[in-house]
Parts: sequence; structure tokens; C-alpha cells
Amino acid sequence: MSDAVLATRNLSKRFGALTATDDVSIDLRRGEIHAVIGPNGAGKSTLIAQISGALRPDSGRVELRGRDVTGDSTQARARGGLGRTFQISALAMEDTVLENALLGALGRSGRPWRFWRAVTADRELRDRAMAALERVGLADHAGTRTAILSHGQRRQLEVAVALTLAPRAFLMDEPMAGLGAEGSKTLTTFLDGLRTEAPILLVEHDMDAVFALADRISVLVYGRVIATGTVDEIRRSQAVRDAYLGDGA
Ligand code: ADP
Ligand code: MG
Repeated sequence: MSDAVLATRNLSKRFGALTATDDVSIDLRRGEIHAVIGPNGAGKSTLIAQISGALRPDSGRVELRGRDVTGDSTQARARGGLGRTFQISALAMEDTVLENALLGALGRSGRPWRFWRAVTADRELRDRAMAALERVGLADHAGTRTAILSHGQRRQLEVAVALTLAPRAFLMDEPMAGLGAEGSKTLTTFLDGLRTEAPILLVEHDMDAVFALADRISVLVYGRVIATGTVDEIRRSQAVRDAYLGDGA
């Protein structure tokens, strides 16, 4: 067996006549950042949605730590060790940083609010949430209203929310989106140190970040993986240049 923590096998998804994901087989290995790049509309988010469980593939499967999870819900996958951050932020802006982390620690199981007081008093949950905030450098902001955080801090909070469930693999869809140059740099440094905790399948447009972070890159064009390789291999690939990167890259 390979050392893949997460894998897709011949995954395909059609929307009417459009094949958004076309026979995609990729894997994420222990300790690595595997970037998925490609032009707009290439099917990156559709691929991520099938891995997270938000979207059902037409055919093919998703394996998490060697187990077929294709039929599992997003919650079951999260409990199984799949941590994700979203292209659109899923944080509760009016809640505090700690409350968001606590919701994460609960696995977003949608507990009724009358349980909320009990939850905030739960020692074990609180410790887990605080440890995750420490890890991303937001412990000092535990009582801060989330809306007040910078974009970069919100991304770090999203990672903290994912960390509360002790993920074995991360899925990230464009975490650099909306960050300025400075914010991207900070987040790049942060993600660099995160890969040893859990490998990251990273969809990202910011090529500086991708080239700085990726151990391997897969290039998606019209739903198909046209190449997988190291940064150097992808940069040198004529097929990738022709299809996507252009000669400036
Ligand atoms: P990317 O993230 O690479 O920009 P997407 O995965 O969002 O690409 O989209 C891939 C293709 O699938 C696009 O042509 C998009 O318009 C189409 N698509 C995505 N989601 C849906 C949907 N729910 N219904 C119909 N078409 C969709
Ligand atoms: Mg997308």
C-alpha cells in the first residue's frame, strides 16, 4: 500500500454536458503539501467538494487513510480526520474567536443554542479550542469578535477550527484569496510549518505561494490532471506551459 493519507481514484463528475472532473486520480502523502493548480473553471473546487463530501461523484472513489469514504457525509469525513478550510469563509462573524474554535471542536454538529452555556463550560472542549488557537497564534484574541480580525487572522482561525478535530489531512481551497502581499507571506510561512502536523491538499491561484510551498503540484485543465510532479518538473513541462502557465512563469 502507498503512504497516501488521502486519495482519489478515477473520480468523475458531470454537470449536464460538462465534465467538471474527468477521471482524476491524485494522492496526498504524509508530510507533503500537494498543490492543485489550473485555470478558472478547471474543476478545482468541484474536486475539493467531492473529497470533502459536499458533492457526490458520478463515478470513482475517495479514500481517507486507506478507507473508502465515498459514501460518507462531510461530518463523518471530518471525524475520520479530514480537516478543511473553505473558499468562502464559514466563520460566525458575530461570535468570538474562541466560540468559533469551540464550534469547530464540536464538529459543527449543530447543537441547539440551549446547550451553548454547557459547552462553553466544558473543560475538555475549551482546552482543545484554546490549544488550537495557541497553535495558530490567536490565543491572545480568544475573546475578540471574529468580524474585527484581519483577513489573514481569519484564515488562521479557519485553520484553528480545523485543528480542533486533530485532522490527519487538510483540504484548502484558495486560502490566499483576498489577502494582500504581506498577508500571503505570513500565511505561507504558517502553512509551511503545518505540513508536518497533517499534509495539505492545496488549491491555490497565488503562484508565489504554490512554488514556495508545494512538494508536488498537479495541474488540472478541463477537469483532467495533465501533469503531476515536483515544482521543477512542472515549471519545465512544455505541456503545462502550453496549457496553463505560459512562458512568463
Ligand atoms: P475552479 O474551482 O477550478 O475555478 P469549478 O470547480 O468551480 O472550477 O468549476 C468547474 C466547472 O464546473 C466550471 O465550468 C463551472 O461553471 C462548472 N460548475 C461548477 N459547479 C457547478 C454546478 N453546481 N452546476 C453546474 N456547473 C457547475
Ligand atoms: Mg474554485
